Amino acid sequence: MISESSDPRVWFPYTPRPHQDEAITHAARVYSQKTVGLLSADCGVGKTIAVLTGYFAARAHDAVSKLIVLTRTHSQSEVFEAELDQLKSRAVRMNHSVDIAVTSMVARMHVCPVRSSLDSVGRTGFLRACAMHVKSGRCSHFWNFYSRGTREEGRPQIREGARMVVEELLRSGVVNRLRAEEYRDDLCPYEILRWCARESRVIIGPYSYMFKERVRKSLLASLGVQLHEVDLLVDEAHNLSSHVLDAESARISGNDIEWLRQNRASIVSETGVSWLGEAVDFLWETFMSGIDDMRRGGERQLQK
Ligand code: SF4
Repeated sequence: MISESSDPRVWFPYTPRPHQDEAITHAARVYSQKTVGLLSADCGVGKTIAVLTGYFAARAHDAVSKLIVLTRTHSQSEVFEAELDQLKSRAVRMNHSVDIAVTSMVARMHVCPVRSSLDSVGRTGFLRACAMHVKSGRCSHFWNFYSRGTREEGRPQIREGARMVVEELLRSGVVNRLRAEEYRDDLCPYEILRWCARESRVIIGPYSYMFKERVRKSLLASLGVQLHEVDLLVDEAHNLSSHVLDAESARISGNDIEWLRQNRASIVSETGVSWLGEAVDFLWETFMSGIDDMRRGGERQLQK
């Protein structure tokens, strides 16, 4: 429960508009009680900052709490970045003892400085090419960030210089793609974002971070937390049902099948999965016989 002495508005960086008080109190209650809440209001009411304020009012002094903010588009992520910057400044001005570290994540392939030289096809091919580049020791961006661990350590260790970059970024504002890419000449921007996220109180990312099982497991492992330990904020949640239904399904068009057929050999060599070539042929044949059936079902010429 919210203690009577704690006024959620002490975190609020603006003069509240009508109804924002209620939204802040509602969000604070939801996060305090670790339950599910819904906030629906017109554009311009200021829902984003109200809910973030409610979260900090409720959970600021819970040292292990992490908030994962899920958005549908990049521009929505930017709105959260801007409001969290305001909250961070407010916390400093008010001498709150809580450090508001924030990282806005993007996928590895969007920030890789050597992507064009990796000769990969699609996302899976890129991840595989990235792993090979690292494993072979050729990715200087990765190995400038990590040193090879000793046998006792078992895994690569973050270098002192990279740790200082992470600390400076977290101290000086919300960490996002643009700020991480300032170091792209020497360091892997994705590894910077990943380490900043580990040290952050708030992580911003797309819906898939929670609603795609493989991505969720990988994110939580990287953050070193369990699902029940995180708080969630889902922006524009009215889109959620269709997104969740689509998240684990795939839609394939005629153009996709043609592209797969043209790149059949590189797909097999990049993934190392030999039966994918036969799967592509099967898809192509099924697609073509489907078109033949449609023709037999009655092709009609439209009158001009
Ligand atoms: S480790 Fe980073 S810089 Fe290296 S290939 Fe992968 S994404 Fe690119």
